[in-house]
Amino acid sequence: MSQSPNWSPRTLAAQALGHIDPASRGVVPPIHVTTTFIRDPDNQYRTGNIYGRPDNETVREAEAIIAMLEGAAGAMVLGSGMSAATAVFLALRPGDHLIAPEVMYWGLRNWLLNEAVAWGIEVTLVDTSDTAAVQAAIRPGQTKLIWLETPSNPMWSITDIAAVSKIAHAAGARVAVDSTCATPLLTRPLALGADIVMHSATKYLNGHSDVIAGALATAVEDEFWTRIRRVRSTLGQILGPLEAYLLIRGMRTLSLRVPAACAGAMELAQRLSNHAAVAEVLYPGLPEHPGHAVAKRQMQGGFGGMLSIRVRAGDAAAIAAAGRVQLWKRATSLGGVESLIEHRGSIEGAGSPCPLDLLRLSVGIEDIEDLYADLDHALRG
Ligand SMILES: *Cc1c(COP(=O)(O)O)cnc(C)c1O
Repeated sequence: MSQSPNWSPRTLAAQALGHIDPASRGVVPPIHVTTTFIRDPDNQYRTGNIYGRPDNETVREAEAIIAMLEGAAGAMVLGSGMSAATAVFLALRPGDHLIAPEVMYWGLRNWLLNEAVAWGIEVTLVDTSDTAAVQAAIRPGQTKLIWLETPSNPMWSITDIAAVSKIAHAAGARVAVDSTCATPLLTRPLALGADIVMHSATKYLNGHSDVIAGALATAVEDEFWTRIRRVRSTLGQILGPLEAYLLIRGMRTLSLRVPAACAGAMELAQRLSNHAAVAEVLYPGLPEHPGHAVAKRQMQGGFGGMLSIRVRAGDAAAIAAAGRVQLWKRATSLGGVESLIEHRGSIEGAGSPCPLDLLRLSVGIEDIEDLYADLDHALRG
């Protein structure tokens, strides 16, 4: 890239880094679908391209944008958020100790408790919003990774990335942050001291509920990063080029979608706090949220597009309210332009810390009056 380094991330994302196709001069680069490449007559591969499983040119374009957004030395795009996260864990060694949050993305929590242990990884879950609890869980010499998620699913608890990074580094451990719900616009974990950032790019980065993808970004391209890259290439976890293209297209409008979702979530959180049918609103933007002070420090430009409500009349009333929405879509996932509502307990099942009266709201970009009126109607019954 030869552009001014002073252009802001939103400028660079809008133009997908301003890359121009050298052959056609098109402002949208072509999608590179080839799986194999011609060797030079003298048996060399001078471009570095050999085969489609380790790497792909369209995937590299997406990675360059994500690295720019996160202020990272490098980025990797994978076939899903789960493959991104598990690639990090599979780069650990048997016997390594991992600390992860009590409240975190349920699919990953399940994988850690049921599968990671089979690889010999020792897992401790703690309330990572309590920095002293993280410190107490450290096993000197054995703890190699602290996994964080902030704001974390589905209670939106907040972890102080800078404080945990200090503790981790003093113990010789790395910090990786699932920053899916913060997005690179609201929080830059690497600047706060984290070593690796992970995204379910299925969510805000792509933003249109039509691609499953994951991303990792690293502060330094060290030996651990090389191991993660090896996991991706040997297990074939790379994203397909067509999906990588859609992801690039989605990221061009990240800086419009995320502030709209944040503004909508904040407005709904305030209105729902005064709703007779709502016992509690969980949103880090509310001053009464226990993580508000840390969130204010560590998030810029908003507190995210995700919030949860606890329905005063209990579990059955929560499910019934979700059954009455017309505009909100009753669906899992988050981070798209359309608003989604979900009774999280039905998905997470037994063993989850999620209260059964909780409804999770992913706020899209629709008119806030329409969104509130639909929720109000559904909650009144
Ligand atoms: C969705 C999600 C994941 C998993 O990502 P997939 O793309 O569905 O594999 C991980 N973490 C968070 C916070 C998520 O929301």
